[in-house]
Amino acid sequence: MRAVFDSHVHYSFAIPLAETVTLFRREFAMTDTARMVFLSLPHHEKNGVLTFDPTQNVKGLYLKTRFALDAYAFAGLEHTGTALSEDERSRMYLLQAERAMAAGFDGFKMLEGYPGIRKVMGIPLCHPVYDRFYSYLEENRIPVVMHLANPEEYWDPDRVDEYAKKVGRFCDETYPTKAQLHGEVDEILKKHPKLRLTLAHFGFLTYRIEDAEAWLERHENTMLDITPGGEQYFNMLSDWPRWEVFLHKYRSRILYGTDFYAFPYNDEERWTQSVMNRPRFVRQFFETNTEHTYQGQLFCGVKLDDAVISDIYWNNAVREYGAPKPVDLSYLRQEAERLLTLPGADADDMRYILNTI
Ligand SMILES: [Zn+2]
Repeated sequence: MRAVFDSHVHYSFAIPLAETVTLFRREFAMTDTARMVFLSLPHHEKNGVLTFDPTQNVKGLYLKTRFALDAYAFAGLEHTGTALSEDERSRMYLLQAERAMAAGFDGFKMLEGYPGIRKVMGIPLCHPVYDRFYSYLEENRIPVVMHLANPEEYWDPDRVDEYAKKVGRFCDETYPTKAQLHGEVDEILKKHPKLRLTLAHFGFLTYRIEDAEAWLERHENTMLDITPGGEQYFNMLSDWPRWEVFLHKYRSRILYGTDFYAFPYNDEERWTQSVMNRPRFVRQFFETNTEHTYQGQLFCGVKLDDAVISDIYWNNAVREYGAPKPVDLSYLRQEAERLLTLPGADADDMRYILNTI
């Protein structure tokens, strides 16, 4: 298999950290993932309530040390302190960014553009409260990966699938629209044109190739990652000759990613299926010209040119991310010690960090 640089890896399942490391080691070997970016997801939304996991950032930084020198970690902002004024909040985000970079993070992950989270937070992504934060990232050339919007079917009651509805992904009129979310990011980039922003999941921009093209043309420092939701690839296939030209033209602006996780180990066969599901799909799609199925849907691979595949799988991330920043182990220790005593944080994982760094 060709080695890949997976720019989109999470560690959100409730698996003890020791086991997470063991699972990842096997999974990276199985998928020939030679470099990886651990993306922190401290906030989740369910039924209109935002939950916060205070250990996400420190775990990502720790995983980076276990997979050194091949691993990178992107931090997530913590939205604590509800009583803060806008100015105080803006300074708090800046401070978080400065601390994260001093600690050895390599960038930021923002899930704030996820419709459910954006709705509950009620703060536009381009709100001035984030200006100091974005300016700092812009001035210091720090990359940020943002999850923005979702498949457009999620806004359409006639097209949204039953599963998406069941897990609360349908966006009725109480949610920001897809156009509004994209408009907010356009505003961010008007204020911060040099921000090195990557939209995850191809920015959900594969419905009209003109939209994807306009996005990349309008914002020259941005990129898109190919992490599959599934629909992007099938959308591309319906207009493949044009998408092939697009991928050649923008080959330096696209990053490989799979939404990889340390998957809970049940039995070998089911676990292998979970691990291989998306990486296999991406590889079959780009590397072969034969027929396969993904989640019950038949597709034929598009077999891109080798040189284009190399850019997407490897070269672009190496160019954009450089070498991983060194981790400040004393910061990691201090954070683990602080979280050890915090209610709601997993003390066993924090102890494990303290015992193994
Ligand atoms: Zn993700």
